[in-house]
Amino acid sequence: MSFISEADALTVKRFFKDFYRRNFSRLYIPSRLPEREFGYFTFEKKIMIRHLSFNSPQELWGKIAEDTPLHIYHSAAFYKYPRAPMDAKGWLGAELIFDIDADHLKTPCGKEHDFKVCRHCRRAYPVSLDLCPDCGQPLMKVEWVCDLCLEAAREEARKLLSFLEDDFGFNRFRTAFSGNRGYHLVVEDESILELDQAERKELIDYITGTGLSMRLMGLEERVIDLETAPKLEDRGWRGRIAKAAFEILASKNYDALREVVGDSMAQTLIDEVEEVSKALGEDVPWNLMRPKLRKALFEAARELASAHIDVVVTQDIHRLLRLGNSLNGKTGFMAKLFDPNELDEFEPMSESVALPMDEELAVYVIRAPRFKLGGMEFEECENELKKLPAAAAILLLCKGAATLP
Ligand SMILES: [Zn+2]
Ligand SMILES: [Zn+2]
Repeated sequence: MSFISEADALTVKRFFKDFYRRNFSRLYIPSRLPEREFGYFTFEKKIMIRHLSFNSPQELWGKIAEDTPLHIYHSAAFYKYPRAPMDAKGWLGAELIFDIDADHLKTPCGKEHDFKVCRHCRRAYPVSLDLCPDCGQPLMKVEWVCDLCLEAAREEARKLLSFLEDDFGFNRFRTAFSGNRGYHLVVEDESILELDQAERKELIDYITGTGLSMRLMGLEERVIDLETAPKLEDRGWRGRIAKAAFEILASKNYDALREVVGDSMAQTLIDEVEEVSKALGEDVPWNLMRPKLRKALFEAARELASAHIDVVVTQDIHRLLRLGNSLNGKTGFMAKLFDPNELDEFEPMSESVALPMDEELAVYVIRAPRFKLGGMEFEECENELKKLPAAAAILLLCKGAATLP
């Protein structure tokens, strides 16, 4: 919970309550509802209330109406006794879940837009400080999210979907915006429900390109045979490596090389890349590269083509997952479900806005970088009393970037 004051939390809670009262029917109801474990955080307590289950949507809605959760989750797993302690639940299977969070991606913008706040002095400070220079209290970090963060997350979701559809042939998915900095993807195919942790780890290794062998791709020979080396038309990882390598050469993406071999080593390879790029024809000219460049290009291609998922989440067969179309207490946005085919068109900063834009709320903004929300743009501001649309004001209150005057 990042609210600056109790009054802030109470105000946000009032908006959440009103949202739920009007929108129960929009909430996602997971399949086999009575076999799922539910858990939630309230606005008041720091620990999660869990080991709950509901026999009908009405029962679930009743609980939400009564307690107004700050965050609400359900298990990806099905249990015989979802209310029992963990070791007595009787695990029956679990959907395969993926979490992509901009937080874990190497976006350069985090350094620019994240900051820290002293909730006592109500001032913003750089992330590098731990204690408030004025009062000595610990500072609270505010993680911002911008278009770059969201696009980076979308790109990872795109790659992940391609692995799941094209390489594994899965065809039943749910995709949702997390309501903050990323995306959730759930595979519902019957065939995966009973996979254990080790089997899920194998899927993860494939998706992340872990243990991929240059030798098996014919790239460690002294003289490269283009017939056995990865080609653009190949299926699976061979094709992915070839496409990513081709792209790196064609766009002279030196950053991709720097990332895997470091600055000084990349510098020594750049002249060679320039030469090889000139010879770029229909496919990757692996045979024209010296072993060092071939290895660097292979590693960079693997990094570029793999999907950067939160491995811990996917491997955990008891994991709780945010309820689709519920509100995320870190932002007040909806964890909006959308059609996986519409990933490219989905606009998180407008489609997930769930709280009113036509009602205003006055807040004291400690700091807010420039942001867009619900089709409106808000300028950067600091230490300023502002009247904002409720959805924007609540975003700032949830993040601890503003407080009620
Ligand atoms: Zn302070
Ligand atoms: Zn960003």
